[in-house]
Amino acid sequence: MMASVEFLLAYKGLVVGACLLLLFAGERLLPAAPPPEPGPGEPPGGFRRLARNGGLWLINLGLSPLIVVPVSAWAAANSLGFRPDWWSGWPGLVLDVVLLDLLIYWWHRFNHELPFLWRFHQVHHLDRFLDSSSALRFHFGEVLLSAVARAAVIVVLGIPLLSVLVFETLLLCATIFHHSNLRLAPGLECRLAKVVITPSIHWVHHHAIRSDTDSNYGTLFSVWDPLFRSRSATARRPDMKIGVEGRAERSLPQLLLQPFRRRSLRPLTAN
Ligand SMILES: [Zn+2]
Repeated sequence: MMASVEFLLAYKGLVVGACLLLLFAGERLLPAAPPPEPGPGEPPGGFRRLARNGGLWLINLGLSPLIVVPVSAWAAANSLGFRPDWWSGWPGLVLDVVLLDLLIYWWHRFNHELPFLWRFHQVHHLDRFLDSSSALRFHFGEVLLSAVARAAVIVVLGIPLLSVLVFETLLLCATIFHHSNLRLAPGLECRLAKVVITPSIHWVHHHAIRSDTDSNYGTLFSVWDPLFRSRSATARRPDMKIGVEGRAERSLPQLLLQPFRRRSLRPLTAN
């Protein structure tokens, strides 16, 4: 088991990096939606947007080995000990991944429903286009808060570090995939959507209409939204407006300060 943990610790970044490179190239060769027109005074090519998303990612990349990984490792080593014998091996690993995905579903939903959490999560949603770089765009406050929430579940359920690492690798690859602008054959996407969250499902979550933004919360498995009645009936369109209803994109320094501003930024109108 320790050999698997060491293997994943060593190669997790490589697997996620390869996934990112593959989808970043794929969505440029086979885009599902045309890139947005550059904003006033912005150079073409969306470089300013990529720099914004990349800047937020670099901060999180620095925080991960310093805070996020140690918090998860501490939680896995200090569990409350509740774990029956049958909850082990491969079946145990699969059950852990499903449970952690269920936690992420509710965590994501709380990020929309609780104004304090939305302050941080809105930074991710203010992106006015989606591609694999959107999967890297999270405010560091959201990353830290979610690490604490995940640690609490790991402590209570006694989830081992191997399961946490497998889940985090799957989660990062799934997040890059469902934000990507890769055009998939409709038949393939339809079949995939029965099991996992695909770009068609997640793009609706970024539609700049509040009722759609507050739906489709799933990250890895697509079962949770139908089960908890949060699946939107809206179908993805290539010209779908992306962002937060009634709000504009911000510069990188403004995005970093956004959660700490006095005014909460819920969308202006509710449907
Ligand atoms: Zn969201």
